Amino acid sequence: MNLANLTAIEIAESIRAKKLKCVDITEYYLSQIKKYKDKNAVLEVFDDAMACAQKIDDRVASGEHLGKLIGVPILIKDNIMYNGHISSSASKILEHYVAPYTATALDRLLQEGVVVLGRTNMDEFAMGGSCENSAYGPCKNAHDDKYVSGGSSGGSAVAVALDMCAFALGSDTGGSIRQPSSYNGVVGLKPTYGRVSRYGLTAYADSLDTLGAITKNVADNALVLSIMAGKDTRDMTSSPIKVDDYLHSIENTIKGKKIAIIKEVQELVDKTDYAHVYQNIIDFCQEHGAFVTKCSIPEYKSILPTYYTLAMAEASSNLSRIDGIRYGDRGRDSDTVNDIYTSTRTELFGNEVKRRIMLGNFVLSSTHYNSYYQKAKKVTTFMQNKFAEVFDFCDLIFMPTSFGEAFEIGSKTSDPVSMYIEDMFTVTANILGVPAISIPVGKGSHGLPIGLQILSKHFAESEIYNMANFIMSRGE
Ligand code: GLN
Repeated sequence: MNLANLTAIEIAESIRAKKLKCVDITEYYLSQIKKYKDKNAVLEVFDDAMACAQKIDDRVASGEHLGKLIGVPILIKDNIMYNGHISSSASKILEHYVAPYTATALDRLLQEGVVVLGRTNMDEFAMGGSCENSAYGPCKNAHDDKYVSGGSSGGSAVAVALDMCAFALGSDTGGSIRQPSSYNGVVGLKPTYGRVSRYGLTAYADSLDTLGAITKNVADNALVLSIMAGKDTRDMTSSPIKVDDYLHSIENTIKGKKIAIIKEVQELVDKTDYAHVYQNIIDFCQEHGAFVTKCSIPEYKSILPTYYTLAMAEASSNLSRIDGIRYGDRGRDSDTVNDIYTSTRTELFGNEVKRRIMLGNFVLSSTHYNSYYQKAKKVTTFMQNKFAEVFDFCDLIFMPTSFGEAFEIGSKTSDPVSMYIEDMFTVTANILGVPAISIPVGKGSHGLPIGLQILSKHFAESEIYNMANFIMSRGE
């Protein structure tokens, strides 16, 4: 059997039919990880990966009940807990932190038979959009070493694109699943806020954080989400709403679907050299019976500063527990508790993390709270209302995932704001709390992939998967 580029569904089917052994596909992925070591996508291959694969083969041989993802090898982002394994959030400060329990989403996948191969590179504490903020060096783009992988789940996206695993888990607070998926030509979905439990995901900004999968195609993504999603008593923000059968709600039609385009987004797209790529998709959808309307949200551009204000505020508060005493490694030893905090946090946090802690504390400080944090909360409500009006008459919103292809490594590191601007389109779904996918739809002028983003109402992931699958099956 040819092991290259199998989907998760194909792997599980072949293992169940005894046409494939889990140890063979695991060995294949481990050799891919070795082959692409220089990409720096994988921080660690877990020692027990092969033993777990062998256990799966034993279970298959004994004929016991086999899960939906039996024998499917995966990689997880370094901010997801897997009991007994290091989870460092690509930070020096958590370099030796061993997860004391397993994240609920991962646990549900393990119950269906996945094998965890290792952990992937990311921006430190998921703060970044290029994977250059990792304490373990940048992850390089799957298609060209000169370019960034995107971030923060860059390692996961590159690993999927280069066939180092069947699929990978990521997290998305402002675009971290979708933007690297777009830059590497794979499929990534950020679920509705609360659809997937955050228990066991290291918090960046709780009110925006989501956990999701990066896959090779839409069907795998749909199946994986249907397993991970659902109420979890350990995360009070997880939703009790019934989980759809995402995979089986993929139909082969988009007839009658109503798609909205935001005028202010379109104006930005028109300034780039790839507006035609998006136009072609819109024409294609119209030819197949979808309706497209344009609507205007003149205040659209305020979403980005709103996101950064909230994300930094929450980050500064979340990271206060990582002080070298309660959590994490300790810096140079000192006599007083305050000095221990200072040396630990000065020595072991990276620059971007420190910048966000400082800005986050600033916007939360009593003198500035009203003008920044509280204002950002008000703009959030305003935007949620505005977009609710759009969703009153349409099923889906289309927009680019980012401004184009991946940028060169090092080209934005000295100018953080230029890096933040890259998130203009992705932060929308996080501020609204709605789901959004990125699918590959073409190539830019350097031959690197570019992605289309599809957003829907809360909990309408089925609509997204259906549309995404239809668009991807058109071929390029
Ligand atoms: N690039 C965004 C940020 O740095 C999004 C990161 C994320 O989604 N984790 O905040």
